[in-house]
Amino acid sequence: MRSLWKGSISFGLVNIPVRLYAATEDRDVHFHLLHRECHTPIRYQRFCPTCGETVPSENIVRAYEWQRDAYVPVEEEELERLPPAAQRTIRILDFVNLADIDPIYFDRSYYLEPMEGAERSYALLRRAMREAGRVAVAQVAFRQKEHLASVRVYGERVLVLETMHYPDEVRDPSPLRGTDQETEVDPRELELAHTLIERLTVCFDPGKYRDRYREALLELVARKAQGQRWELPRPQEPVGVESLLEALRESVRLAEAGART
Ligand SMILES: [Zn+2]
Repeated sequence: MRSLWKGSISFGLVNIPVRLYAATEDRDVHFHLLHRECHTPIRYQRFCPTCGETVPSENIVRAYEWQRDAYVPVEEEELERLPPAAQRTIRILDFVNLADIDPIYFDRSYYLEPMEGAERSYALLRRAMREAGRVAVAQVAFRQKEHLASVRVYGERVLVLETMHYPDEVRDPSPLRGTDQETEVDPRELELAHTLIERLTVCFDPGKYRDRYREALLELVARKAQGQRWELPRPQEPVGVESLLEALRESVRLAEAGART
């Protein structure tokens, strides 16, 4: 694992130097873009239309468009020296209950590792948070933004930082149809829906879910690579059920049959 950032957690007057690592990785199947005629990978050029030339990356500078067609270039060094970024601090502001944070706020997860000599203070914060059952709300500046974040204990041993969205970054869902008010429901349908939820309720075990799309895609690639014929499977017809009530009754029946086998 390669660390993405170094800094320290500030917990009151206690500073805990840490390294930050990405906690998750993307397992998506990635495609390359080829010219259909000759199968050559397409290459991108950073081209300046004014000078009529390709620009190497050392001659490219970031700029903010502060008015239409008026740009202010900003150097990398200036970005890193802005006050919140330069402090390199995960500033713990408050402690809350995890259940009080709606998951919509969570963005990305990062592991925090104590630097040499910080193991004791790291262990202390971890133990205290675990015993209190609380999550820290913090702010940390990296990558051109002061992030809102939470810090919590993952498993038993690791502090994990989750960057979070600010409330003004969460879109207002009220224009969505059917969400502005409570709609009347049929009590018999509601009871069946409750029964169905009950029948399908388990302890969350993420290990039992697989990306079936990725599996099918890799199989398609393997077959095509071996020159085998591949027929696109027919889309499955949805099962026709006359009414919502009928669909619920049938679903409960199927869930009960599934539970018995
Ligand atoms: Zn130019």
